[in-house]
Amino acid sequence: MPSLLITGAAGYIGSHFAEALIGQGVLSDGPLDLHFLDDLSTGHREFLDRLVALAESKGLPRPKVYEASLTDAPALERAIEQAEPEAVLHFAALISVAESVQKPELYFRNNVEGSQNLLRSLQKVNCRRLVFSSTAAVYGNPPDPAVASRPLPESTALAPVNPYGETKLAMERAIEEASRAWGLNAVIFRYFNAAGASASGGFGEWHEPETHLIPLLLRAASRGEKLKVFGSDYATRDGTCIRDYIHVEDLASAHVLGLERLMGGAVSASGATETFNLGTAQGTSVLEVIRAAEEVLGHPVGYEIYPRRAGDSAVLVADSTRAREVLGWEPKHSSMEHILRTAWGWERGLQASGR
Ligand code: UDP
Repeated sequence: MPSLLITGAAGYIGSHFAEALIGQGVLSDGPLDLHFLDDLSTGHREFLDRLVALAESKGLPRPKVYEASLTDAPALERAIEQAEPEAVLHFAALISVAESVQKPELYFRNNVEGSQNLLRSLQKVNCRRLVFSSTAAVYGNPPDPAVASRPLPESTALAPVNPYGETKLAMERAIEEASRAWGLNAVIFRYFNAAGASASGGFGEWHEPETHLIPLLLRAASRGEKLKVFGSDYATRDGTCIRDYIHVEDLASAHVLGLERLMGGAVSASGATETFNLGTAQGTSVLEVIRAAEEVLGHPVGYEIYPRRAGDSAVLVADSTRAREVLGWEPKHSSMEHILRTAWGWERGLQASGR
């Protein structure tokens, strides 16, 4: 039975991946033995409770939960010795661009030191399969407008413009070095803008404080407040930033495929890292997201233009040809309308339960 460790299972993308995996129930070589590691600093215990209940309802062994931080190396090592994972899916990280600009040390400690601890522990138990969450923020601000106006392939120059992106790039490089040094086999996913919520209603975007556009927009609209739009003087079609919004369930399905690739294929003795962008190749500006939300909500959404937010790139749109060709991945849930409908369903649930 394959033992899998999921770091950050109580978080937004980790929980959706775990739900998708449990829904599937087996990998190529048998049912799943799941281990969740999270320090619950930004994740939610009720997500873990829901995942454990879901696994049991599917007849899987009860997943084990380790409440530990990646920065606590001895606790992490103990968890990994206990879990004896054949593969690790490493979602746990701090993810706010704005916070990373204000507190870079915190981001380097959590995202880089924490992940280095993880790599060291994996090497110790000779676990050589890793799926790592990276980000479009590693591309920074492609300076050439001809480059910026078309989807970015993985070969785009890596030049983060904020500490969050720097920490993810540092770990991408550390993982590639681990592949060379001790035979780690890794799949790195560079997410563009994760959005939306699970069709089951059990999981969704829930950050405290929230910094992301879609939940803030829905929240502002439902309270009759104005959304702050950060910058209207970018060199884009309407002056606001353009992003590639990808439904979190499409991210989850990519991870299932990436994991199957690592588990199914012979693990290369010499180690290898493969990197994939995950996005739709469709860019949507902030004002276009507002217009789409007005359609879904059925009423106007007020907004006000504010100065640019530090660390923002003007345009980030993914060329995900590689993920489609190599993994056979296809985003199926990422229309802006579906993203907004599921996000709105989740947000209403949060509000109704007083959170
Ligand atoms: N944004 C905005 N108002 C907000 C939050 C975000 O105008 O209240 C903009 C932000 O400046 C960026 C885009 O929306 O251009 C997406 O930001 P988000 O934080 O959702 O994701 P990021 O691209 O930073 O990962």
